[in-house]
Amino acid sequence: MKYQAYNRHNFTEIPQMKNFSELFRKEILISSKVLPFKTNNYVTDFLIDWSKVPEDPMFLLNFPQKDMLQPAHFSEAAGMVEGRYSEEQSAEILKKIYSELNPHPAAQQHNVPVLEGKKLNGMQHKYRETVLFFPRQGQTCHAYCTFCFRWPQFTGISHLKFRTDEATLLASYIRKNPSVTDVLFTGGDPMVMHASILRGYIEALLEANIPHLQTIRIGTKALAYWPFRFLTDPDSNELLHLFERIIKHGINLAIMAHFSHPTELKTPQVAEAIRNIRSTGAQIRTQSPVLKHINDDPKTWAEMWRLQVNHNCIPYYMFIARDTGAQHYFSIPLVKAWEIFRKAYQSVSGVCRTVRGPSMSCIPGKVQVLGVSEVVTNGKKEKLIVMRMLQGRNPDWVARPFFAEYHPDAIWIDQLKPAFGEKKFFFEDELEQMFKEDLSESSLVNFE
Ligand SMILES: *Cc1c(COP(=O)(O)O)cnc(C)c1O
Ligand code: SF4
Repeated sequence: MKYQAYNRHNFTEIPQMKNFSELFRKEILISSKVLPFKTNNYVTDFLIDWSKVPEDPMFLLNFPQKDMLQPAHFSEAAGMVEGRYSEEQSAEILKKIYSELNPHPAAQQHNVPVLEGKKLNGMQHKYRETVLFFPRQGQTCHAYCTFCFRWPQFTGISHLKFRTDEATLLASYIRKNPSVTDVLFTGGDPMVMHASILRGYIEALLEANIPHLQTIRIGTKALAYWPFRFLTDPDSNELLHLFERIIKHGINLAIMAHFSHPTELKTPQVAEAIRNIRSTGAQIRTQSPVLKHINDDPKTWAEMWRLQVNHNCIPYYMFIARDTGAQHYFSIPLVKAWEIFRKAYQSVSGVCRTVRGPSMSCIPGKVQVLGVSEVVTNGKKEKLIVMRMLQGRNPDWVARPFFAEYHPDAIWIDQLKPAFGEKKFFFEDELEQMFKEDLSESSLVNFE
C-alpha cells in the first residue's frame, strides 16, 4: 500500500468523509485548528469502522472533535476558520490557547542533560538508567493521536520543540554516564525516519562500543498506524536489517509499540509486521493510556493484552491520560482507571500480567495507582488511595507505597491530598529542593 497522508489541507479527499454533513466536517476542521490532525489511508481504509462514526474509537483517535476543545477555545478556532481574525490575530489567539493547554506537562523542560557545560537540547534524562533521544527527523508521526501530549512539537512553536541531530553527543553523554543502560528513541515517531537516517544514529552508538549500554528502545506507533513500515515501504528491509545488526552487536532491542485499541491488532498487516520485527530478534513491548471514548473498559484492555501476547508482544504500561491538550475529553478518574486495570488484570493469565499501571507520568516520576484501601484510625474508618512510584526522579523513591485521601473524582496527582493529615507526600521536600537548586540547569537529573 502506498502511504497517503490526510490533514486539514486535503481533508476533502478522504473518500469516506464525503458521506457526512457539512456541519460535521466543518467542526472537525475547526477543532483541527488547535489539535494536531493527520491520518492516513491505512487508518481510514482498514481501522476506522465508518458505520460507527462518530463513536468509532479509531475515528476519535485521529479526527479532532468539537468536544475535545473547551467551548471558548472552539469558538475562537471557529473565528479563525471563518476568517474573523487577521493572520496576526489568529497566531496570537493560537499561542494563548496552547499556553492554556499545559504544553509541557511533568516539567519536561527541566530534564535536559548537560555535557561539558553544553545543553543537549534533543535529549531528556529524567530517570537514572534511561536517556530519551529525540532525533530531528523523527518529530512527526504516520498519523496523530487526538490525545497526544507531544502535540506542541507539531504546532510550529519552535521553542517548545525538542530535537537534535547530534548523534555523537548522545554517544559521548552515555559514555560519560555509566548509570545509563538504556537509550529510548522517541518523537514524534522515530519510525517515520528513513532507515538510512536511523542507521546513522544507531551506528554512532554501536561504534562507540559503550560497555554499559544494554538496551536500545524505539518508541513507535507505526505498528498501529502504518504496519507497512515493516512490510513494503521501499526501505523496510533495510530497517529490519538494522534491527538485526543491533541484536548481533549484543544489544537488546525493544520496540515500544503504542496500541490503544484491539482493532489496531486485528489486521493481517499488523500480524505480519510483528512477525517481521520479531524475526530480527527484537522484542516488542506495548503501552497505551487509558482513554475515555476509546478504551475505558476492562474488556477492551483484556482483549488488547491477549491479542498482544498472541502476537508475541509483551504488555508493558497502562498510562493515565496526561494533564495536557484534550485531557478533559479523554480523562477518567484515577480510581476508575484502577478499576479498569484491576478487572482486566484479573481476567487474563500471568503472561499478560507483565503490564504495570495505571501510571501517571508526573513531575516526581511514574506514579502507579495501586488501588483503594481502608484503614481504621482512632476508631474511625478511613478510605485511602494507595500509590507507589514505578520510576522516580530519585531512584530511592521507587517502590515505596504512599497514601492519599480518597477522592473518587481526582484525575491527576495534583488533586490528591496526603492521607493521615500529612502536609506533604514523602518526596515533596526533596523534589522542591531539586527544582530550587536548578531552575535553569540540569543538576536535578544528575542526582547520583
Ligand atoms: C517512562 C519513561 C522512561 C522509561 O522508564 P522505564 O520504566 O524504564 O520504561 C524514561 N524516561 C522518561 C521521561 C519516561 O517517562
Ligand atoms: S503516535 Fe505518539 S507522538 Fe504521535 S501523535 Fe500519537 S501519541 Fe503523539
